[in-house]
Amino acid sequence: MNRVPCIICHRPDREAIDHAIAQGASLREVGRAYNVQHTAVFRHKRDHTAHEIATLNGAHKVQDRGTALARLEALYTTAEKLLKKALKDSTSVNGQVQVVKEVRACLELIAKMTGELNERPQTVNLMMAPQWLQVRAALFQALEDHPQALEAVAGRLVALENNSRELVRG
Ligand SMILES: [Zn+2]
Repeated sequence: MNRVPCIICHRPDREAIDHAIAQGASLREVGRAYNVQHTAVFRHKRDHTAHEIATLNGAHKVQDRGTALARLEALYTTAEKLLKKALKDSTSVNGQVQVVKEVRACLELIAKMTGELNERPQTVNLMMAPQWLQVRAALFQALEDHPQALEAVAGRLVALENNSRELVRG
């Protein structure tokens, strides 16, 4: 039988993938979250995780956090794709703003879970997060040829950003 080397075993985030598998995330969920073929996840789960899963079952907290984070990251990837699609398909401005909000909500949750927001709650402004600035720049670039849409989106973003600053100040 043809033996394919396991790409997951050699990844730096292998432990997180094992966590997700141990927690019962589906092969496709794990594949999406970590950008690997679900068949590779299947082989890795079948051939290499029995021992790890037994060990991990003692560490529920870490596991739950790892899985929730993996799912959120998968959700974020989906939201980003939706955003690109919404911009390409010239969806209504309201539709685009809705997708931007989803992307932002995902980033906010991820930041909370990874402690980026918790550690310095008084000084971190999500609107300054590099991922958000990237999304924002991509958004404005994509809307360059649609000045009306650009103006409307920019207006809504400024409102959102002011809102977020108030939240940070608490
Ligand atoms: Zn493996």
